[in-house]
Amino acid sequence: MASDNSVASAVSRVTPDILQVKVPLPFPLRWVNSYLVRGSGGYTLIDPGLHTEEAVRVWELALAHANIAYAEIAQIVLTHHHPDHYGLTGLFQQRTGAPVRLSRVGLEQAQRLWGPGQPLTDAIVRLFIRHGIADEPLRQLKPHLDSFVPLVSPQPEIQPIEAGETLRIGDRSCVAIETAGHAAGHMCLYDEAAQLMFCGDHVLPQISPNVSYIPGVDDNPLASFLSSLADIAAYPVQLALPGHREPFRAFAERARELIRHHDERLERMRVALLTPMTCYELCIAIFSAKLPIHQLRFALSETIAHVFYLLQSGQVTEEEGDGKLIYRSSVMSGF
Ligand SMILES: [Zn+2]
Ligand SMILES: [Zn+2]
Repeated sequence: MASDNSVASAVSRVTPDILQVKVPLPFPLRWVNSYLVRGSGGYTLIDPGLHTEEAVRVWELALAHANIAYAEIAQIVLTHHHPDHYGLTGLFQQRTGAPVRLSRVGLEQAQRLWGPGQPLTDAIVRLFIRHGIADEPLRQLKPHLDSFVPLVSPQPEIQPIEAGETLRIGDRSCVAIETAGHAAGHMCLYDEAAQLMFCGDHVLPQISPNVSYIPGVDDNPLASFLSSLADIAAYPVQLALPGHREPFRAFAERARELIRHHDERLERMRVALLTPMTCYELCIAIFSAKLPIHQLRFALSETIAHVFYLLQSGQVTEEEGDGKLIYRSSVMSGF
């Protein structure tokens, strides 16, 4: 249970007008960062968090601690549609009446995941079967995906953000920079005057953002991620406000480090695929055989994203055997 003390440590002022609120998550990530940006027309709330009882309780205490009423929240802006950022948005919209902004692609993905019929759930199950998932994690997959619905309900009404649009965030003027890869339609929000970047999960300190292949939205999300990392590294940034961990300064360096991390992982996978195997077998070889379903889903989607990158750059070939897709390296070591 959140005590007043733990709430005081969950709320910190990062600039005179920006409060960081650490909203708890029942995952290894532990918390998501929400930001409340004060302006003359009220607060802008960025990424409210996942809808759990604990998160709602922390928010009640955090707002009381900061002396902010729900009615003072004038706008809600989402960097992307992932449940740990999007989940509480509908509840906040009910309590504040504030408009909610999210990229058009993010809005479509949220509807495919949690809207009528949840079509993306079955598409992900079919994808994982094609890529050789074992029976036991397969049994857990659909209930696991369905378990997110209450964590993102009620669904908000959303007004799309267009790439390149300038948004008023508090009294700051921020341009929405499309930064696909970690999530389709992900937007970083850049305040050029202050050289301040709300970077969502595109660039995280210490953690490598997950890059997942999701059916029907981006054929090569890792290529999108690497190119949008190279693009974002060109912006001068004094302070980066990420979706997880703590605000940080060495933004371009971190973006370039993430590019190197994926280059290394691609090479490890290319070498492993000198022995032909499915993406599930490769996932077990690269990550671990003992991942719980939540981590396995991320690890397998990430493996597929890397293998599709290798496939599309001609470094591996794909063949079908027994209803499953098998990959093998087509390029020998470069020496
Ligand atoms: Zn995310
Ligand atoms: Zn996140």
